[in-house]
Amino acid sequence: MSRESWSKHDHAFYLERAEDPVPPLWYRVAALAYAFHAENGHAHFERGEVCRRLVRVDFHTGELLKTSASAVNHAIGTAIRYGSLSPDSLTSRLGCLVVPMRPDGLRGHIWGSKKGNPWDPCDRHES
Ligand SMILES: [Zn+2]
Repeated sequence: MSRESWSKHDHAFYLERAEDPVPPLWYRVAALAYAFHAENGHAHFERGEVCRRLVRVDFHTGELLKTSASAVNHAIGTAIRYGSLSPDSLTSRLGCLVVPMRPDGLRGHIWGSKKGNPWDPCDRHES
C-alpha cells in the first residue's frame, strides 16, 4: 500500500472500543491511546486513570471491577509486541501511552489531532 494513503480516525470511536469490556485488554489499552493522543502521538493519563477506564465486568454478578496496574502493564507490553503501541509507552503509573510511529522516524502517522503538533516534547518522558 502506498504511504500516501491515509485517513483520520475518530477519538470517540476508540474510547468506545477501550471501554468495551469484551475485547482483550491489550487491544483496549491501545484503543485508549488512540482515543486521547495529541498530535505528537502521546496520550497522558492521571495516576490510576488507565486502570479506572479499563474496568472489567464480573460476568457472573455484573459487578464492574477495576483492572489492576499489573494487568494493565502486562497488556501494554502485549500491545507493544503486537505493534499497536510504541515501545516508548510508559507504565500505567507513569501515565503516557504512545501510538506507534512510522519506521522512517521523521514523523508519526498521526495527523489532525486537535492538541499540539508532531514535534511537541512530552513532559512525562522528559522527567
Ligand atoms: Zn509521553
